Amino acid sequence: MVTSNDIRATFLNYFARNGHQIVPSAPLVPRNDPTLLFTNAGMVPFKSVFTGQEKRPYVRATSAQKCVRAGGKHNDLDNVGYTARHHTFFEMLGNFSFGDYFKEQAIFHAWTLLTKDFGLPKDKLLVTVYHTDDEAAALWKKIAGLSDEKIIRIPTDDNFWRMGDTGPCGPCSEIFYDHGDKIAGGPPGSPDEDGDRFIEIWNLVFMQYEEGPPGTRTPLPRPSIDTGMGLERFAAILQGKHDNYDTDTLRALILASSEATGQDPDGQFRVSHRVVADHLRSSAFLMADGVLPSNEGRGYVLRRIMRRAMRHAHMMGAKEPLMHRLVPALTRQMGQAYPELNQAEALITETLQLEEARFRSLLDRGISLLREESETIPAGGSLPGAVAFKLYDTYGFPLDLTQDALREEGKAVDVDGFNAAMAEQKARARAAWAGSGEAATESVWFELEQQIGATEFLGYSTETAEAAI
Ligand code: ATP
Ligand code: MG
Ligand code: MG
Ligand code: MG
Repeated sequence: MVTSNDIRATFLNYFARNGHQIVPSAPLVPRNDPTLLFTNAGMVPFKSVFTGQEKRPYVRATSAQKCVRAGGKHNDLDNVGYTARHHTFFEMLGNFSFGDYFKEQAIFHAWTLLTKDFGLPKDKLLVTVYHTDDEAAALWKKIAGLSDEKIIRIPTDDNFWRMGDTGPCGPCSEIFYDHGDKIAGGPPGSPDEDGDRFIEIWNLVFMQYEEGPPGTRTPLPRPSIDTGMGLERFAAILQGKHDNYDTDTLRALILASSEATGQDPDGQFRVSHRVVADHLRSSAFLMADGVLPSNEGRGYVLRRIMRRAMRHAHMMGAKEPLMHRLVPALTRQMGQAYPELNQAEALITETLQLEEARFRSLLDRGISLLREESETIPAGGSLPGAVAFKLYDTYGFPLDLTQDALREEGKAVDVDGFNAAMAEQKARARAAWAGSGEAATESVWFELEQQIGATEFLGYSTETAEAAI
């Protein structure tokens, strides 16, 4: 069986052979980019090269980039455990041209690598292009010999990429793999496209224009290429699986979770094992890149991920902290490709253990409260915001953890009510601060800071704050 490690190496070597510089993965915390929570695509570390602000000694590059999509514009947290193809942490393989080759070469390389080097059957592949991109459609026909039905024109922004409100932008073309009619889902562009039958594996972005103030778009004199392929999705195909979680790396983590809990990996706790495996990876990689659990910003996203996993471990009957026991399985799988994981192993293990030990004492009681309250809600109903806030404030349940727990029962949270309770609490704290005069103690100050912090970080899961990220 071809392993994920082999696939990564084959990909990078293919592009190295074709004149690309292999560039190591950048950290998950983007450097000099306060607008971005985590590195969420292979192009992130090359942004300033694409805009021309930075010059590098090469015009072609290839990388396997660590990505986290657990907040901000790309948030796949709620997909984990439910789709075959989403993780919070994944690796994006990519090739980049900085004003060097363009569409024709990009399509040629993608097609050659997929069908020749990796030997994928041509009849399982189909592509999308932006509806006005006749050039890309013609190239797919010429290079791959795909019929018109297999070149799907998409009129939405799914196939038009932008770096930001202004800056480089352009159409993109995505390659899909058809896992066959035993799996539910329609082709891209159909009403049923969110199913897992046709899985998007590779996105080729053609950076063709420079967008200025609204309505002004000029062709770039030297257009560029940015591509991204999900290693886990590709590994699933090459390993004869449909589901990313059945590939070598993730399956090993699921088996470790199964062994540690004594629960069947494919039984009633299938979703929990998947969440644990996925969240272990994102937590460990974030810590290896210097993020530690905290009550705000990136650290709070990490804490939310860790606590979600810990609730699932608890559901599987774990009586003692569990996550830290799975770290060796992770370093075995990924430590060679990412030595930072080995270097940070002790820190990761200790932090997971401490965080879980602390949270467990609250978790038991919080779960009981949640269960009692949930019983009074009919299916399809919502938990009152005040209860969700109490779970948050007293038991350390991030809002999304409560939502995740209720989702299993087909219930939701009254988020407006939750936000109102949060605002009320904040106002109360302010009043207490104002009224306390000289008697204000350090602990009041500390509380206040925690609450204000809490209000800010909440934003990552709401639409409005996303716009700011
Ligand atoms: P999807 O529509 O399936 O959510 P996407 O369009 O959001 O994917 P892109 O932003 O185009 O994905 O990223 C490029 C590639 O990275 C995708 O084609 C896919 O192979 C991979 N990818 C994206 N998100 C994830 C994820 N959460 N987990 C695993 N792989 C991912
Ligand atoms: Mg997506
Ligand atoms: Mg997509
Ligand atoms: Mg895409």
